[in-house]
Amino acid sequence: LNNYVGFDSITSQINRKLVRRGFQFNVMVVGPSGSGKSTLVNTLFSAHLMNSKGRVDIQTPYRQTTEINVTSHVVQENRVQLQLNLIDTPGYGDQINNDKCWEPIIKYIRDQHSSYLRRELNSHREKRLQDTRVHCCLFFIRPTGHSLRPIDIAVLKRLTEIVNVVPVIAKSDSLTLEERAAFKQQIREEITKHDINLYPYDSDDIDDEELNLNAAVRNLIPFAVVGSEKEIVVDGKHIRGRQNRWGIVNVDDENHCEFIYLRNFLMRTHLQDLIETTSVYHYERFRSKQLSTLKE
Ligand code: GDP
Ligand code: MG
Repeated sequence: LNNYVGFDSITSQINRKLVRRGFQFNVMVVGPSGSGKSTLVNTLFSAHLMNSKGRVDIQTPYRQTTEINVTSHVVQENRVQLQLNLIDTPGYGDQINNDKCWEPIIKYIRDQHSSYLRRELNSHREKRLQDTRVHCCLFFIRPTGHSLRPIDIAVLKRLTEIVNVVPVIAKSDSLTLEERAAFKQQIREEITKHDINLYPYDSDDIDDEELNLNAAVRNLIPFAVVGSEKEIVVDGKHIRGRQNRWGIVNVDDENHCEFIYLRNFLMRTHLQDLIETTSVYHYERFRSKQLSTLKE
């Protein structure tokens, strides 16, 4: 007797549907001005951004972001379409009075949750909800070798309560490999000490493979990265990199920095999980709080 009815094909059914529909992926960058946020985003997605916008203006000198700025790009790989929204935030903690400087950032994230909720409650009007919820927040740490500032801790605390936060050490080409390892270790200890709940989370329903993957990510965090929008020529080859006092840093070389690890994490191994965790964990928490206050 063959009891096979074929519902195991649901995984490919779901995949096909998702692929046809396309994904929305919303990445936010947070950190002090001049910490390399815009440069890193352009480095991460440069090839694709060039396709969708025609070109990336690599000539623009140092530009400061004064308000929250969202740019939207449709990128495609094979038959998979990704709508990528990049959310650039103003540097926090740059003012003399930094009291509540994180509020516009927190408000932006909350506003996306509440507008999603509003649309969800009216969902009979819309076939498919536009998803502007922030799926990943890259938190930029300057390569100082010093402790995180109290303001960094304060911002991290608040962010991690509402969004998937992934810390990166920006401009890590200014650190030697030894300094980098020590700094990473120190940041990890501070994060533990201050009880900051970073992505990824080990929920109860995850299997061994996912547990291992999460452990591997935690070993890499914070990713020590280098960004560059310029190509340089080394031995006749064009590479994306930077020339500094000690020589040339190749952004795409994992012996030089962890840029490739970050990109693989974001785009290859955890893209779907970042989206799903936002929905089932962060958004769900927001939603149940909102709905319970409505009932009162
Ligand atoms: P943002 O204000 O955080 O968006 O910072 P930007 O991306 O505009 O970068 C500020 C300055 O730092 C620019 O002059 C960049 O060329 C430089 N920069 C960006 N990334 C790196 C990096 O990885 N290493 C070094 N050495 N400089 C960088
Ligand atoms: Mg910027």
